[in-house]
Amino acid sequence: MMKEIILLKNGEIALKGLNRSVFEDRLINNARRRLEPLGRFSFRKAQSTIYVEPKTDGVDLDEAADRLQKVYGIAALTRACVVEKDFEDIKAKAAEYLREELEDAKTFKVEAKRSDKSFPMNSPEICRELGAHLLEHFPHLAVDVHNPDVTVVVEVRDFAAYVHGSQLPGAGGIPVGSGGRALLLLSGGIDSPVAGAMMAKRGLEVFAIHFASPPYTSERAKQKVITLAEKMTAYCGRINLFVVPFTEIQEAIKDQCPEDLFTIIMRRYMMRIACRVARDSSCEALITGESVGQVASQTIQAMNCTDAVCNMPVLRPVVGMDKDEIVIIANKIDTFETSILPYEDCCTVFTPKHPRTKPKMKFVEQAEAGMDMEGLISRAVYNVETIKISQ
Ligand code: ATP
Ligand code: MG
Repeated sequence: MMKEIILLKNGEIALKGLNRSVFEDRLINNARRRLEPLGRFSFRKAQSTIYVEPKTDGVDLDEAADRLQKVYGIAALTRACVVEKDFEDIKAKAAEYLREELEDAKTFKVEAKRSDKSFPMNSPEICRELGAHLLEHFPHLAVDVHNPDVTVVVEVRDFAAYVHGSQLPGAGGIPVGSGGRALLLLSGGIDSPVAGAMMAKRGLEVFAIHFASPPYTSERAKQKVITLAEKMTAYCGRINLFVVPFTEIQEAIKDQCPEDLFTIIMRRYMMRIACRVARDSSCEALITGESVGQVASQTIQAMNCTDAVCNMPVLRPVVGMDKDEIVIIANKIDTFETSILPYEDCCTVFTPKHPRTKPKMKFVEQAEAGMDMEGLISRAVYNVETIKISQ
């Protein structure tokens, strides 16, 4: 039985100078929480690498690597075999541990990193001798120091020695939470989960808010949004999901406002409520899945009308993306299949026949003037349901 660990290579966080250890600690915390259901692990930092070692027997390392590939802030990860600090053991384990990889390769090279200076061989010696041993063991191989199929790495550290082969790609980005927290307007569609994951990748912790209009929207539609939030946790970590009862507001708009302004006024209510819920939950920005021109209501004039009621930044990471570009990311974060399930969104209830695509602020404000805005909003906020989605 060979003992295995996982090495994490920091991405951009390596660049953050003095803040570096704060970022690393956050990354370790995020990774630790993501691995918690699989068993106990220890985390050790050394030279822009984090060593993740299972501390319970029988841990599923495939699953662990899979989970870690979704943790933002990790550029690459490698599974490594723990070896004794003894060259005979290094030779034997390297050939055994990397057998499949080396059998499939045509060329290789050996790299050695030695921080334990008491080890009797220096790095060039380790490379030369291990290279010769592997050539003997796998006679079909040739050495290529410039562009090898496989790079065999031997690390002789103060605390242990490791052998590993090729890297797996990490999710990139920066650790979730290092840039503060934002509130995602999460519909049941394709775009908003992608928008949330994109901002999580830039280091924001993501909370979500969903507007539901029962009985026009069903329990099943709400359940779908919960499922989307659950899927997002693989990348975003835990999410607080706020479900806002929106029926009274939609009915009031329908009764009191001109039909062609229905959509924009509804969206302004969403934004006002989102801003309040954001403040109450320490979120410092909103996130939406809007993309210019995608549907009639997504124009810069409409965005101007919705931004006007917000007193915090509204982040729209997919604003300049085509649908197919968004779909690629939706597939990658595994939300696409859920997003395309049929459902009713509150936006599709009372849809006007001819929505105004370039609403004029003056008319929108006039139309809203007669409404009991404060009463409607405070009742909705008061009745928000909070669902804690754990990872
Ligand atoms: P999505 O695919 O995210 O549903 P969409 O292309 O359907 O977006 P719209 O329906 O115009 O676009 O919604 C634009 C954005 O408004 C959404 O991306 C989302 O951020 C927000 N939004 C829409 N409906 C809701 C809702 N019921 N609850 C919360 N946010 C919503
Ligand atoms: Mg939608």
